[in-house]
Amino acid sequence: MKKVLITGAAGFLGSHLCDRFVKEGFYVIAMDNLITGDLKNIEHLFPLEQFEFCHHDVSKFVHVSGKLDYILHFASPASPIDYLKIPIQTLKVGSLGTLNLLGLAKSKKATILVASTSEVYGDPLVHPQNEDYYGNVSPVGPRGVYDEAKRFMESITMAYHRFHGLDTRIVRIFNTYGSRMRLNDGRVVPAFMGQALRGEGLSIFGDGSQTRSFCYIDDQIEGIYRLLFSDYRNPINIGNPHEITIKELAEEIIKLTGTNQKIVYKPLPQDDPLQRQPDITRAKEILGWEPKVKRKEGLKIVYDYFKSLDPEELQRREH
Ligand code: NAD
Repeated sequence: MKKVLITGAAGFLGSHLCDRFVKEGFYVIAMDNLITGDLKNIEHLFPLEQFEFCHHDVSKFVHVSGKLDYILHFASPASPIDYLKIPIQTLKVGSLGTLNLLGLAKSKKATILVASTSEVYGDPLVHPQNEDYYGNVSPVGPRGVYDEAKRFMESITMAYHRFHGLDTRIVRIFNTYGSRMRLNDGRVVPAFMGQALRGEGLSIFGDGSQTRSFCYIDDQIEGIYRLLFSDYRNPINIGNPHEITIKELAEEIIKLTGTNQKIVYKPLPQDDPLQRQPDITRAKEILGWEPKVKRKEGLKIVYDYFKSLDPEELQRREH
């Protein structure tokens, strides 16, 4: 049985990756320090013999006994609210954490895939963003702790590939949404849904003309899975290119929820990118991948998921 180590396994993307790799017949070691994750996201996997959980901070030395075939490094705070609250841990997990996992991959001769982000493009000056764009990031701005950690992650991953011949993959993930997100970690889809469920107004930062492109979780996991089993070593964008303004998204969610919530406008945070849209030509050509789930369909699945949670669980997901 092939063995995979998934870091950040109790988080949103990590837990869905655990499900996918278990389903594909892998032995999964799920590692997480639970700083932003939740064991509830993976507890359904605990009874399985092909699954084990390891509570560990990957910014410290990482040890796994026996053979290891693949590493998926997804540990990192991912929402602006989280990484602004824990900036040093964010820098450490992107730098020291990545270094530790590259070292582990080297010693085990494992293939490693690291989770980078569209944030490496910063507030982009080209649109849509393709992988050859170098980005427009302020290293000293508040979001620099996340963006620069991920840029370092990409850089050291390529260095291990070029210098040590390590088998590496880099995925640049664009905004993804789905079940198991927390309702108020600052990410806009669950934030709007949480506000609609609580009967509050939907908060828009700025005038709502900034754009984002939202990828449904199943599409994202499929793209990552295909990348791991490709032999492509340069960064690759995985995201949904259908761009929408935040105001349009708020209106879509108000319509979907059948509520009559108002939109409440708040000041735009510093360095908030105004446009974000992946160019996925490379993913289409190399991985034969493109998103399948339409936004209307995906948003409905996620809203039904949040609605189906009992009030206690819903409240837990608000923290
Ligand atoms: P998440 O916060 O839900 O999950 C991150 C997980 O990593 C959490 O379970 C957290 O406890 C764990 N973690 C953080 N620091 C750790 C450490 N030092 N040691 C061990 N575990 C640690 O976030 P997510 O949305 O699932 O994001 C997962 C990865 O994908 C991140 O690397 C993020 O940068 C990347 N990403 C996500 C998105 C998105 O839209 N969700 C977009 C771009 C990139």
